[in-house]
Amino acid sequence: MDGVGSPTALAARIHELDPDLPVDFSIEDLCRRLDIDKIEDKPVSSFAAMLLMHPDKAWGSIVVAQGTSPRRRRFSIGHELGHFLINSHRPREGMQFACSHADLGMENTREASRAKKMEAEANRFAAQLLMPPKRIRANLRSRQPDLAEVVRLAEEFDVSKAAMARSYVDAHRETLALVVVRNGKIEQAYRPDDFPWIEPRIGEPIPDDSIVHDHRLLPGQITAMEECDPETWLGASAARKVELLSEQVLAQKNDWSMVLLHAEIVESG
Ligand SMILES: [Zn+2]
Repeated sequence: MDGVGSPTALAARIHELDPDLPVDFSIEDLCRRLDIDKIEDKPVSSFAAMLLMHPDKAWGSIVVAQGTSPRRRRFSIGHELGHFLINSHRPREGMQFACSHADLGMENTREASRAKKMEAEANRFAAQLLMPPKRIRANLRSRQPDLAEVVRLAEEFDVSKAAMARSYVDAHRETLALVVVRNGKIEQAYRPDDFPWIEPRIGEPIPDDSIVHDHRLLPGQITAMEECDPETWLGASAARKVELLSEQVLAQKNDWSMVLLHAEIVESG
């Protein structure tokens, strides 16, 4: 794997070398082939997953916090494998990579420190390794965006719905974004660069006009994709660039839900 640059290129290279890898491949077997000699589950609370490695990366071993759900565990192992394989990733002098739950959800931002950038890169690697965009697109049954597809693909690829929802938004040809809601408030918003700026901020309540308020859903239930006023989620100038905005809701356990937003952008010129 030497000489392969970005996390994305590295994940793609692994799939090129092994084109028959099933979508729900064993991450343990893959790790073993890539010089990770051991994966252990230990009752720890100070980190979610850890990479122990020889300073010159000749070998590594991975520790995952006991009790991690199998799908999150798979992602955590992929993340640590990323730290191991990405050439430039080194822990601080005399330390090891001990990654927290926050690290496992870290996204790249312009102002992120070197340490945070490494965490975001390891996540990018894990996402692309477990959910290659090409394979997501090849497994779509409908060209229309649909959270039911996210649920099905999460099963097929053996990943969490939350992880699949983001990768789906990235891989899909349509312009999509994902809003994660808890107890009526926006917990996270995942907006690729092609999606217009989403007006409500993290921590704010869901907009009054959102269809989230129109449905009483049980966990696992999904609404239809419904058209809404673009200004429900977008500022006035962003809304003008959008021909149609639609939203769809998936209810999850413990008052969590996911809102998929689909923007049809006005053709310019
Ligand atoms: Zn990490």
